[in-house]
Amino acid sequence: MTQRNVHIETWGCQMNVADSERMLALLAQKNFRAVSSPSDADLIILNTCNIREKARHKVLTRLGELRVFKDNNPSVLLALSGCVAQTESKSLRNQLPFLDLIFGPDQIEDLPQILEKVMEADDPSLSQFAPQGPLVQTKFSESREYSIPMDAAEPWLGGDKFEATRFVNIIKGCDNFCTFCVVPYTRGREKSRAMAEVVQETHFLAEKGVKEIVLLGQNVNSYGLDTCERDLEPLEHTPFVELLYKVSKTQGVERLRFMTSNPHDLPSQLPQAFVDIPALCDQFHLPVQAGSNAILKSMHRRYTRESYLEKIAAIRAVRPEMAFSSDIIVGFPGETDEDFEQTMSLVSDVKFAFIYAFTYSPRPLTPAAKFKNQVPEHIKVKRLQALLDMQKLETERQNKEEIGKLRDVMLFYRNRKEPENWYGRTFQGRLVKVLNIEGAAGITLPVRITEANATALVGVVEV
Ligand code: SF4
Repeated sequence: MTQRNVHIETWGCQMNVADSERMLALLAQKNFRAVSSPSDADLIILNTCNIREKARHKVLTRLGELRVFKDNNPSVLLALSGCVAQTESKSLRNQLPFLDLIFGPDQIEDLPQILEKVMEADDPSLSQFAPQGPLVQTKFSESREYSIPMDAAEPWLGGDKFEATRFVNIIKGCDNFCTFCVVPYTRGREKSRAMAEVVQETHFLAEKGVKEIVLLGQNVNSYGLDTCERDLEPLEHTPFVELLYKVSKTQGVERLRFMTSNPHDLPSQLPQAFVDIPALCDQFHLPVQAGSNAILKSMHRRYTRESYLEKIAAIRAVRPEMAFSSDIIVGFPGETDEDFEQTMSLVSDVKFAFIYAFTYSPRPLTPAAKFKNQVPEHIKVKRLQALLDMQKLETERQNKEEIGKLRDVMLFYRNRKEPENWYGRTFQGRLVKVLNIEGAAGITLPVRITEANATALVGVVEV
């Protein structure tokens, strides 16, 4: 089989990162080798994000830059995937006739077969495709189970690219329909992978040397609820918590994390799981989005500020060192100064380790985009800056509190410019630059923290 090169650029969330890895694994079976430069590629895939207008705009700008490689060599295939591809395939098909392929997240499993069709597109027997312009494959598969078979799930683990931490998809899609979020329209309804398949993948990864597993889904709490009627044995916990217990038994997995959880259906058994499972990290991303009950209601989040704080307290009661992080949307339609102050006070009360905060960006297809009371851009920007300034001080304060502590740091990658130094993370997820070591990805070392700023810690190994 002819060897070909593929270059994938990934924008957006961890789900997209995991999708790109899956594409590479599937394409490897068809003799495609990953290359880091688009100039070396026979196939270029831009895996896009549509979560905010700015992200969408950047992606399309980048597509214009990548087009040059195809202009210079028409045999290069150029494909658009991900959430922009899913939501805007019809208009993009006309606007971007130079593309060869537009495909959505639900089509990844079929990518090798779809590519074969693209490569044979000159074949007159494939006359259903436009003679010019991209092939569009964006249908949601309603009937097919969500399965990532092991041969397709084999990760990109080669040589220098070995990563000690790996994402494992457990559920895709979302049924929550938060009024600001485009995900239910780009990734469809919730579909869970079979528990046995997820456990099999974590065993496989552990055998390859992976030390940290991150269970991934748009809302991991919903895991298995779409399929539990099919389960023969009644479960002691919710399917997601059951899965945590099962995966935690994988020999070799030292750290276990998950993302993302919607607070509204956080399983009540989760605090006990944090007691029972030592591998579950002291790191928890729990997006609150806003601190005002009126705004939370308008966002259709289905929890209140008070119930969110109760959930935080329940986890902290069993894991006092838990480093919480959160997503916050500033300037959601109708947000008043008082609503925003509620967000500021919640962020101040929780003492997050860090936050991802953005101004509200209306997304196509979502109800909030049509809300009348949009907040002017200059107010959103001003509020965002106030929030980020406050959080920066808190992150810096927490990081400085680490100075002098001895932390277990799992090494992840070598500093390119200073090869004698490595980067790793504490059990709480804080980034640490470890000085002067002969490291290796995946080993955990006792590190005395010596310096800190708002971005990272610095430390030395203590023997
Ligand atoms: S829970 Fe809400 S914010 Fe999260 S993916 Fe689903 S709809 Fe979007």
